[in-house]
Amino acid sequence: MERLIIVVPAYNEEESLPKTINVLSELMQGFIKQKRISNESIILFVNDGSKDKTWAIINEYDKKNEHVSGINFSRNFGHQNAIIGGLTAAYDYGDIFITIDADLQDDVEAMGKMLDARLEGYDIVYGARNVRETDTKFKRWTAETFYSLMKKIGVEMVPDAADYRLTSRRVVKHLLQFKERNLFLRGIVPKIGYPSTVVYYARKERELGESKYPLRKMLSFAWDGITSFSVAPMHLVLGMGITTTLVSLFMVIYSVWQYFSGRVIPGWSSLMISIWFIGGVQLIGISVIGEYVGKVFNETKERPRFIIQDNLMSTEKKIDEKE
Ligand code: UDP
Ligand code: MG
Repeated sequence: MERLIIVVPAYNEEESLPKTINVLSELMQGFIKQKRISNESIILFVNDGSKDKTWAIINEYDKKNEHVSGINFSRNFGHQNAIIGGLTAAYDYGDIFITIDADLQDDVEAMGKMLDARLEGYDIVYGARNVRETDTKFKRWTAETFYSLMKKIGVEMVPDAADYRLTSRRVVKHLLQFKERNLFLRGIVPKIGYPSTVVYYARKERELGESKYPLRKMLSFAWDGITSFSVAPMHLVLGMGITTTLVSLFMVIYSVWQYFSGRVIPGWSSLMISIWFIGGVQLIGISVIGEYVGKVFNETKERPRFIIQDNLMSTEKKIDEKE
């Protein structure tokens, strides 16, 4: 039977954690009893530098529940890095991996369906939200715009897929080879290939604690997604540049013609407009290029994406590669 590791990133989740642990561990016990997964399955919590009691709670449950374990980051590294850090630590202990948020907004019942799909032979099972009633209209609108934009610029993504997904060990092996620091897992996982399918579920309201993704973080996440995967913004700037040049060419001909016909044009407004417009276009262009230069700068430094300070996984349970 395959060993399942549920990887749960947690940042300041002391309020929701006890309930989450109970729900997940009951679910896991059920799967074990049904003989769908091995008894050595684990729920691995990744404490992403929480400032509250999150790590203490994980420690407490690690002692009393053999299926609960945890790793502790040295500081906050962010949601995406917490997931990749969890998978890195879990890789040697499991055959299949499910990542899910600590607030249980994503329906845990979908895990059963994910395991079914795994038994049918799929390597990746995406969890996707088909009902977003509990999200605000604004959040739904931004999400929709984002997915359609990503599709337009040629980034393959599963629409409405969250970071709630099942991956097999061989997929995780390849996933860990994607070394980028500007991590955008929803864009990377489809690039790995292997047979994949989608399981749909309704996304619930966060019951305890509050969202760690304020609008500012959400926008920067979307911007990261676009610029880490596509140079479409640069093409856009190129198009703007070409258009502006053609328009100015016409303006030159027009002014020369006006000059020779002896009509004097005050010219102040057209000058002002051109200066401001071209200045604006140039500024946008420079900032977009700067964005990519910044990305290159960040990637070339090859800094670690996460730092594990404490690891509660017992080394005895590691999978022997020769197995
Ligand atoms: N999270 C994390 N590090 C962060 C921010 C969030 O590990 O810097 C975790 C958080 O504990 C939760 C998941 O990532 O398990 C998703 O965060 P949240 O629920 O706040 O986002 P939302 O569901 O509102 O998009
Ligand atoms: Mg949430």
